[in-house]
Amino acid sequence: MSMDYADGPMFKNTIKILEDAAAVINCDPNVLERIKRPKRAIIVSVPVRMDDYRVKVFTGYRVQHSSTLGPYKGGIRYHQDVDLSEVAALATLMTFKCSLLNLPLGGGKGGIRVDPTQLSRTEKQNLTRRYTSELGQAIGPNVDIPAPDMGTDPQTMAWIMDTYSQEMGYAQPGVVTGKPVEIGGSLGRNGATGLGVIFTTEKALATQNMKMPGTTIVVQGFGNVGQHAALYGFERGMKVLAVSDVSGGIYNAGGLDIPDVIRYVTEHKVVKGYPKAEPISNDQLLTLKCDVLAPCAMENVITEANASKIDCKFIVEGANGPTTNEATKILSDRDIMICPDILANGGGVIVSYFEWVQGLQHYFWSEEEVNNKMKQIITGAFDKVWELKTEKKVDMRTAAMGSSVRRLERAMLLRGLYPR
Ligand code: NAD
Repeated sequence: MSMDYADGPMFKNTIKILEDAAAVINCDPNVLERIKRPKRAIIVSVPVRMDDYRVKVFTGYRVQHSSTLGPYKGGIRYHQDVDLSEVAALATLMTFKCSLLNLPLGGGKGGIRVDPTQLSRTEKQNLTRRYTSELGQAIGPNVDIPAPDMGTDPQTMAWIMDTYSQEMGYAQPGVVTGKPVEIGGSLGRNGATGLGVIFTTEKALATQNMKMPGTTIVVQGFGNVGQHAALYGFERGMKVLAVSDVSGGIYNAGGLDIPDVIRYVTEHKVVKGYPKAEPISNDQLLTLKCDVLAPCAMENVITEANASKIDCKFIVEGANGPTTNEATKILSDRDIMICPDILANGGGVIVSYFEWVQGLQHYFWSEEEVNNKMKQIITGAFDKVWELKTEKKVDMRTAAMGSSVRRLERAMLLRGLYPR
């Protein structure tokens, strides 16, 4: 296979958004030239002893896009479709997310091409530890700080932290965020991305003088992001009409009891079979009539093929890259407001930043303090995006990217080009 990372659909999508936004804010062409490419990409082979004693070799990646604003920051994904191009696109989005949110962090992303649902706990642990060890000094508290993404969770982060610490000879909690609270994680981190989705939703609704109670929402994906978005929406009086995961979706016109659905999923692993709802497919779910559609599963689910059938007022992107550029255009022409990924799912990296800061200071905050500070940052970013959108008469995605590029551009011009 001789495909260049730049040819992947998500990477191309991301660069097109960047180029459009750069034109809107008149970005320095030399800066644009540099930020269109990641700084570094690492590919590792990860040999793993499987439960039947055979050794299987998986491919792992870590892409480091930019460190202009600080250490690289970004999740690690375990999924069977992971490839270099997807990881590069996600790393690029992380740079712009951190810049938009005013965090002192750059952008990175990692992944392993593996279906984690086919691994036992021991196999997943072996895989994680060997991947960490293969990355070596490419990650670290001052270098590059991973976090959870699809297919990884706080337990995975605990294994990374332990492996890195074993190799360094002393505890290094700052090497990852999204850790369990017992080993230096932050209160509020696990639900942070979903909570940020809901804070963003509240801001979007307010622009149309709408309030949360009684407003309908549909959530695709019922993992970390989707479950928490559905739960925090439900707790604020939103009517959650439908949720889904890889097994399919469930729908209840009267609204789902989300804590009850979460109990069901904790026991049965998937939403399929939940008794107090009707089954629907993921495709049907996306076109349900609702106020807010929150895609919180994976990329490229809202495309040219279904964009004209989407029947909501707002799309709030919990997932990274769920809407293609062609679909964004169709939806904007239809006056459907999209709160883009780099804004709407920023709650996770904001609280990851808090976790990193708390860990470096060995001083931990209350959950209330964490959530309040996160809300301040994400709603502040929303206002900044709204202002640029209004000033330049562009869609929210272009405005979010534009606002982000502005900050990075200033920082790059100040730092200059080495050697020159
Ligand atoms: P997760 O692994 O916890 O959950 C993923 C969910 O998506 C699961 O419910 C899974 O069944 C479902 N899913 C997978 N394939 C699907 C398909 N084809 N159709 C419908 N549902 C499908 O992952 P997560 O951490 O919740 O991440 C979800 C998205 O949010 C990803 O795009 C990720 O990059 C993004 N994100 C995550 C975080 C975070 O803090 N975890 C932060 C920012 C963005």
